[in-house]
Amino acid sequence: MVAKKKCFFGIKTDRQVDGDKISQKFMDKVIAEGGENAAIASCMQCGTCSGGCTNIDRMDISPRKLILLLQRGEWETILKSNTLWLCTSCYTCTSRCPRGVRPADVIEAVKALAIREGIQNDSTRFNQIFVELVKKRGIVFEPELMHQYGGIEAMLEQAELGVKLALRGKLSPFPAKVKDSKIFNQALEKASEK
Ligand code: SF4
Ligand code: SF4
Repeated sequence: MVAKKKCFFGIKTDRQVDGDKISQKFMDKVIAEGGENAAIASCMQCGTCSGGCTNIDRMDISPRKLILLLQRGEWETILKSNTLWLCTSCYTCTSRCPRGVRPADVIEAVKALAIREGIQNDSTRFNQIFVELVKKRGIVFEPELMHQYGGIEAMLEQAELGVKLALRGKLSPFPAKVKDSKIFNQALEKASEK
């Protein structure tokens, strides 16, 4: 595969989009999904967000580039990116941005849209199992989560670590439940309202 040119006659092609060329359509989608204060159009592509990102080594698209793709309207590329699922919402990018752009909010919003558009992968499957288990008893029982996500094989792989954690009191060998399930369910219902 021929590598894409990043530079053409000395002009970097991977840089800021002119204001009048910004694609509003997908920015509006993100804004409507909770990115109203994300200031996407203000990004000057300085890369400070990427420089401080705590998980950038594993991401296929840096936070800086994700904002650039969004400005360009390259929605399909964004939806396929593993960055959506590897972002830990640590907000380092957002707290450091000199232009007040909020890449963490953008990623959260795009993630919600991706789920709605039917994107499925290991991360969405993990999230679904996690949510179902929280709904079930209010407190996740890690061995159950591991079993449903990775099966017996994953449990056996992690058994030694699980025993060590249990011996140090960091992992209960038995499932726990919230004390007042009624209040918990009311809180869940409220959180689902939008
Ligand atoms: S730090 Fe802010 S302005 Fe700089 S690239 Fe990231 S989002 Fe854009
Ligand atoms: S919130 Fe996400 S994108 Fe921003 S620094 Fe943290 S891991 Fe990186």
